Amino acid sequence: MTFNDNSKLDTSRVSKRGKTGIAVGGGSAVVVIGLLLISQVLGVDLTGLAGGGSEGSSSSSEEALDCQTGADANARVDCLMVGASNSLDDYWATEAPALGVEYHSPAKFILFDGGVGTGCGQASSATGPFYCPSDEKIYVDTSFFDELRTRFGATGGTLSEMYVVAHEWGHHIQQVAGTFATTDRGDTGPTSDSVRTELQADCYAGAWAAAASQTEDANGTTFIQPITEAQIADALNAASAIGDDRIQQQGTGTVNPESWTHGSSEERQRWFTNGFRGGAGNCDTFSASAL
Ligand SMILES: [Zn+2]
Repeated sequence: MTFNDNSKLDTSRVSKRGKTGIAVGGGSAVVVIGLLLISQVLGVDLTGLAGGGSEGSSSSSEEALDCQTGADANARVDCLMVGASNSLDDYWATEAPALGVEYHSPAKFILFDGGVGTGCGQASSATGPFYCPSDEKIYVDTSFFDELRTRFGATGGTLSEMYVVAHEWGHHIQQVAGTFATTDRGDTGPTSDSVRTELQADCYAGAWAAAASQTEDANGTTFIQPITEAQIADALNAASAIGDDRIQQQGTGTVNPESWTHGSSEERQRWFTNGFRGGAGNCDTFSASAL
């Protein structure tokens, strides 16, 4: 996606944390972290994280971001994250009430490098991007976007990167809607609550993408230029690259639907498209008989 150069970015809810120097041990630790990555890509359930971490206990320093305009978002990935969050906030401020959900923004969107202490425990880059319901913050290490291309084979592109943010924002909508309180997030399998939760977040990402070119900054300048077919293809490609079946096939050579937490490549693309075509009201994965 391309930002309008003169749209104004608001960095007040986004910050950057430096390296915390999480110790990574020998071979076995690397395997565990690899498994974490596979199970937690774009995850929401952080029970897999080592517990006990508390925010501020690490040596990380929080920095403000120097992002002023849409031109910065077009030039730098950290400012692209700011721009995505501004657009998502504007979209959901009107769209969430239409779903009957009283909206408030995520408490913070944290860009981290290496490791980070969260309200859900200590996390590392290997966790992948995630949303922590207990502190209502979104955490992204932007090096994940390189991994999307190199490890998961996605085509990349700005919409695929913003899709990741939009997916996590979708989990925040679920948090404010009370969805997590009524679902079993430890459940796995092709029709599990986990998969339905994740596919709904994909659907919400699609709903935002379709409306993103109408979102506006505080002055009424639109943030984003109309979406192109190539950008939509990139987002669908990213959704497909991180399907449970694709990741399992790549990692182990077999597919075991009973351990799915996020849905298949085909399902992830389908629900993104459902949101893109029908809006956020078209995202009820919990009563869908077929996913
Ligand atoms: Zn997720």
